[in-house]
Amino acid sequence: MKNNVPVVISAPSGAGKSTIIRRLLKEDSRLGFSVSTTTRRPRDGEVEGRDYYYISDDDFSKMREAGEFLEWAVVHGNCYGTAKKEVDRLAAAGKIPIFDVDIQGTKNLRNTIPDAVYIFIVPPSLQILEQRLKDRKTDSEEQIRIRLGNALKELREYRLYDYLVVNDQIEAAVVAIQSAIRAESHRLARMTDFIEKILEENNDHPIG
Ligand code: ADP
Ligand code: 5GP
Repeated sequence: MKNNVPVVISAPSGAGKSTIIRRLLKEDSRLGFSVSTTTRRPRDGEVEGRDYYYISDDDFSKMREAGEFLEWAVVHGNCYGTAKKEVDRLAAAGKIPIFDVDIQGTKNLRNTIPDAVYIFIVPPSLQILEQRLKDRKTDSEEQIRIRLGNALKELREYRLYDYLVVNDQIEAAVVAIQSAIRAESHRLARMTDFIEKILEENNDHPIG
């Protein structure tokens, strides 16, 4: 259906994107998470095939050379990519895909999936972002430094997106994103087939 809008979400690391995506998936079974492929090592608690497909640098290069990625990028020193077969898997399951990609991924997907809604999640401040990364206790000091260093560069790219959501209170951020997705599905351009069909049917059989 045309008004099933694919969702693309980006955020500086630590802004709360994974937390929010988990909530979106839990509350709307029509959504399916596009599991990316990465060379990053799994964090504690992450699950192969749920959070990422974890592969070696060599295997990533092979997939890249074979043209198996819809898009890919080096982010914070590791490779990440959306495999074409992952997108096919979601389509076969009848799911509305939700993509978690960085800025470069967003630029690429804008070309390949132009009808998606592009949402940027930002923290209330960079100080709070730093605190969240530290409290999460999943990244080394070095990784936190890299991620904070990249955050400002990423924030400067906010114009790439259709919606900007500040993740201050998690609940409000989830509702804001759900509202954006819903509003997007009612855009006139997505509803023209529906309305035109009614008009066409009633040209032949006017009521009254
Ligand atoms: P990302 O996926 O964007 O890197 P996470 O979802 O892992 O970020 O969130 C980073 C940390 O901040 C986690 O420990 C998470 O529990 C916490 N967090 C997320 N959203 C909020 C919020 N609104 N208020 C306080 N802490 C939050
Ligand atoms: P993390 O290591 O914190 O899970 O993710 C680091 C960054 O990589 C995040 O900005 C995330 O959005 C991005 N990322 C995850 N998967 C992909 C992907 O498939 N493609 C691109 N371009 N970026 C991704």
